[in-house]
Amino acid sequence: MPKIDRSAFLYLDPKGNKDTFAQCSTCLLWCGEAKQLCAIHGDKVRVRGTASCGFYIHGSPRPEQTVAKIVTPAESGLVDRKVRCENCQYFDTDDSDCDLFKELNEEFPELFYLEEKVDKHGCCNANEPIRKIGVKESVKEPAKRIGLKMAAENPKPNGIGLEVKPGVYLVRHAKTALNSDSSRDKIRGWIDVPLDATGKEQTKEIAKQVAGYKPVKVYSSDLQRSAHTARAIADAAGIDSIKAERVFRPWNLGEFQGKSAANAVPIIKEHLQKDMQDKKIFGGESFAQFRDRYLEALKKVLDEFTKSGKNIVIVCHYRNLKLTEAWLAKGGSKNHEIDAKMFTTDDMPPGTIARVVPKGDDWAFEVVHKGATVGGKVGAS
Ligand code: SF4
Ligand code: SF4
Repeated sequence: MPKIDRSAFLYLDPKGNKDTFAQCSTCLLWCGEAKQLCAIHGDKVRVRGTASCGFYIHGSPRPEQTVAKIVTPAESGLVDRKVRCENCQYFDTDDSDCDLFKELNEEFPELFYLEEKVDKHGCCNANEPIRKIGVKESVKEPAKRIGLKMAAENPKPNGIGLEVKPGVYLVRHAKTALNSDSSRDKIRGWIDVPLDATGKEQTKEIAKQVAGYKPVKVYSSDLQRSAHTARAIADAAGIDSIKAERVFRPWNLGEFQGKSAANAVPIIKEHLQKDMQDKKIFGGESFAQFRDRYLEALKKVLDEFTKSGKNIVIVCHYRNLKLTEAWLAKGGSKNHEIDAKMFTTDDMPPGTIARVVPKGDDWAFEVVHKGATVGGKVGAS
């Protein structure tokens, strides 16, 4: 059986004026700047020069041509934006590949033989805008559009009765000697405190549950309380090694580390105010340093998940989970705006499991398990 090539996606090689290629202003069917109409969409559909649709025919617009309602915008795939590969979330700027074509070749080799090199001015009918938080959309939506079934469409219960969803799973490490109830809880920050006996017990429970989400890779903060928890998860999931990285450490709270969490909370809140976000905590980091360091690393992992469609785990700390939640509550903005109230709400004990899952063009944060069952509710990390 012949395989599907990229002509099935109506891929267009750029020619003529590359800056306007595949846009209405260089389409034979456009009626020009003055009319802003197209020959096949009727006289009620305004078509700007920078729009485009799947019926593009390279040529000179003809203002005098007859306008008839032959297709609807939905039928033609009309979009009011520049549709070039360089404006598409599947375009890989490093090597000028189309990640959608690449993914389909890898996932369905029996079906596809797609030339992966694309011109940045090229275009195809699967063109998707770049997402606002700068990570790429999963191949699942276009794959669905062309009639393919992806496992991600149907979350399935895993072996221990939990709903498995595709996404990046965030796990707070198990208990340490510095975790306690809110009145005695101590700020841990970058202090490399090990898990205590209760924490070591908790890792078994956490590992069993997280392995059930079928991860293929485990990232971790390089602090031992996270790395130990991550190692247990990797073992339970049959993954050889963990990737322990400093970027997944919590906020370095400098002089407050090892001291009462209750006393530090007002200072932390003060440092979340706009004019204080760049001010360093003595001996530690500013909020902006922590926020940008961690969120940039998280975005890379989300991008990795998007490309592979395979679940990934990051074992980190209380404030990393809270920051993720507070950032996504504000839409996952490029400038890393957060919901400060949410960030300071104390509600994710050690062993908490959350996940970041695709939701339309955005990401959603879901807590799937609040803390391991031993160790009690604790405060800041
Ligand atoms: S809407 Fe489509 S067919 Fe009409 S002018 Fe634009 S690209 Fe051409
Ligand atoms: S990068 Fe986007 S527009 Fe270009 S061929 Fe791939 S899916 Fe189509």
